[in-house]
Amino acid sequence: MATPRLRRELEQALENVRHRTEGEASSYLSDVSDEQVDALGAAICDTDGVVTTAGDCDHVFPLQSVSKAFAYAVTLQEIGLEEVLAHVGVEPSGDAFNQPSLRRDGRPFNPLINAGAILTHGLIPGGTDGAREELLLATFSALAGEELEVDEEVYAAEAERADLNLSLAHLLAAEGVLPDDPREVVRGYLRQCSINVTAPQLAVMGATLAGGGVNPRTGDRVLDEGVVTQTLSVMMTCGMYDASGQWVAEVGLPAKSGVSGALVGVVPGVMGLTAYSPRLDSQGNSVRGIQLFEELSEQWDLHLLRHREPLAGLREARGER
Ligand code: GLN
Repeated sequence: MATPRLRRELEQALENVRHRTEGEASSYLSDVSDEQVDALGAAICDTDGVVTTAGDCDHVFPLQSVSKAFAYAVTLQEIGLEEVLAHVGVEPSGDAFNQPSLRRDGRPFNPLINAGAILTHGLIPGGTDGAREELLLATFSALAGEELEVDEEVYAAEAERADLNLSLAHLLAAEGVLPDDPREVVRGYLRQCSINVTAPQLAVMGATLAGGGVNPRTGDRVLDEGVVTQTLSVMMTCGMYDASGQWVAEVGLPAKSGVSGALVGVVPGVMGLTAYSPRLDSQGNSVRGIQLFEELSEQWDLHLLRHREPLAGLREARGER
């Protein structure tokens, strides 16, 4: 149930970070007409489907790299873990997201850096970029419980800046691992990054992961539980680019950020939490978003690695009741 106190605390947390006006918005935003670099919003969706919002929650923004986590889930759901792992690893790269980091066996380190995300996008079944996009949009919409769309203006801005991503795709093609034409896959990947959401819609997507793959607003099972566990594991270790280790230590939640300033975190079994604020730090993460998560993790005791009583299953195995 939405409680006034939860809303007040979310609003207060937002006010606590509002003064952080350092950092620059990503360059693609300068080509987008309704650019609002100081927009600030946050939203929660719990696993009962109750949404709590604060700040600019009607503002739409592209998922950008946040899409990588959900696209990984789509690919796992469609072709299975074994097939995905044969192509893309699950190790943090320690490098910036757009570096050509490939493991010695030619696989990208993980699906949340660009090389891995481009390949993961290419693994979505369908055979053409149109078919891949259709499946991706249908699943993202089911995760959000609302119809989502590609923002053509954002896509055009992304397409203008595609050199590095094209070079990564050509590298993958040279390794012989890319299933389709590099230009087609990059086009599809950039359109995936350009899918628009609001903070509450993204919170519902996060809550669907928190609920083990069932959308708490629609009741639909969108992903299998195993797919969710795999996705959250990679978000936990690799979700915040080369700041992932520090994030786990300070916030302790699986999460994913994007250069739009979007950030989604998942508290398994409990809720999806999102923040949106476009000014970025040097790693490409939202300055205010990070502080908001740090404060709320502390205040609401969300860190998953905090000391807790032994788990029920372990107690039972030890013969305790
Ligand atoms: N579209 C962007 C890119 O691939 C996404 C980057 C990001 O959000 N880190 O360059």
